[in-house]
Amino acid sequence: MNRFSFVDCTSVEHALGELGSGTEVKAGGIDVLDRLKEGLDQPEKLVNIRNIRSLAAIEDSAQGLRIGPLATLTEVSEHTAVKQNYAALAHATGHAATPQIRNVATIGGNLLQRPRCWYFRNADFPCRRKGGEIRFAQDGENQYHAIFDNHICAIVAPSSAAVPLIAFNAQVELTSKDGKRTVPLEKFYLTPEQNVTREHSLRPGELLTAVVIPRTSQNTKSAYQKYGEKDSHDWPIADAAVVLDMDGNTVRRASIVMGAAAPTPMRATASEALLSGKALNEQLARQAGKAAMQGATPLAHNGYKVGLFETAIYRTVLFAGGLMPRDRSAVGGDV
Ligand SMILES: Cc1cc2nc3c(=O)[nH]c(=O)nc-3n(C[C@H](O)[C@H](O)[C@H](O)COP(=O)(O)OP(=O)(O)OC[C@H]3O[C@@H](n4cnc5c(N)ncnc54)[C@H](O)[C@@H]3O)c2cc1C
Repeated sequence: MNRFSFVDCTSVEHALGELGSGTEVKAGGIDVLDRLKEGLDQPEKLVNIRNIRSLAAIEDSAQGLRIGPLATLTEVSEHTAVKQNYAALAHATGHAATPQIRNVATIGGNLLQRPRCWYFRNADFPCRRKGGEIRFAQDGENQYHAIFDNHICAIVAPSSAAVPLIAFNAQVELTSKDGKRTVPLEKFYLTPEQNVTREHSLRPGELLTAVVIPRTSQNTKSAYQKYGEKDSHDWPIADAAVVLDMDGNTVRRASIVMGAAAPTPMRATASEALLSGKALNEQLARQAGKAAMQGATPLAHNGYKVGLFETAIYRTVLFAGGLMPRDRSAVGGDV
């Protein structure tokens, strides 16, 4: 690890004043400290925002929910308004990683964590995401990699929280010395075609200062499911969030997002269109699962993910619609 200075900030203004070239932000530190130890990042200065209390609040209002980026995954998952109105988010944040990590990891850091691809994480592999020329995953060990949009770089988006947040049409508030801007979370993430070395469009000198989710109605039902190799802790191999606007048993509008399928969280637009305006039943949910996989381009070792995602979406749609009250097959499904 390189030598760096450490600045402990207690206000947003203080932190913005400290940001510049050669600096890096630390929130909970779970991901950024790993990257320093792995030799991937070598900042001159680490700007600790963990103690800026004004960025840790969760506020529920008639407009919706405003989550400070320093709210921990535990605080988000256990918040009454999140559990009542945004069940998919409560589930995703409540089943990411381990209880110890969830007590430290922040929602902002979770959305901005860097990918888990083992070629990216190993400093000895000069992959395209690190500015190199070689696409190691395409011809290598690609069992956990992307099954969509995997031609330039086959990482998968790592954040569990981003999946339901996009399904709920959340926005992120970004603050710099020049002011604030708000961006839909779905557009905040960058595809490899847009930028192969960066996952999101946070600008230098900017802080993520809020996640804002529009209010849901009484007819909104949602669910999230995560499938992994271990039940105890790990990033998902496949996960899905489904938000349904229901009129009785009929789906007025569906919002379906997949994680770990592509380099960015991916909307299942064909499944959304298929469900809209129809009475929900098991057969329709199965068709939605199949529709989501149209256009998949699996690599040599990850073809199994196509079937896994079909099942994940089928079950999450039924779970959201109340037609599958308990599901023991997904991580944390039995709640
Ligand atoms: C064993 C294990 C299992 C895990 N399983 C999962 C899982 O299932 N699902 C999942 O989603 N994650 C999982 N994680 C990842 C973990 O949730 C993230 O590393 C964590 O949420 C990051 O949050 P943090 O506050 O520690 O971020 P940090 O490490 O402090 O920051 C992460 C990145 O975000 C930047 N950053 C943080 N906050 C801000 C801000 N407000 N403004 C600007 N930049 C900012 C930092 O500069 C850094 O680049 C797992 C981690 C481990 C170790």
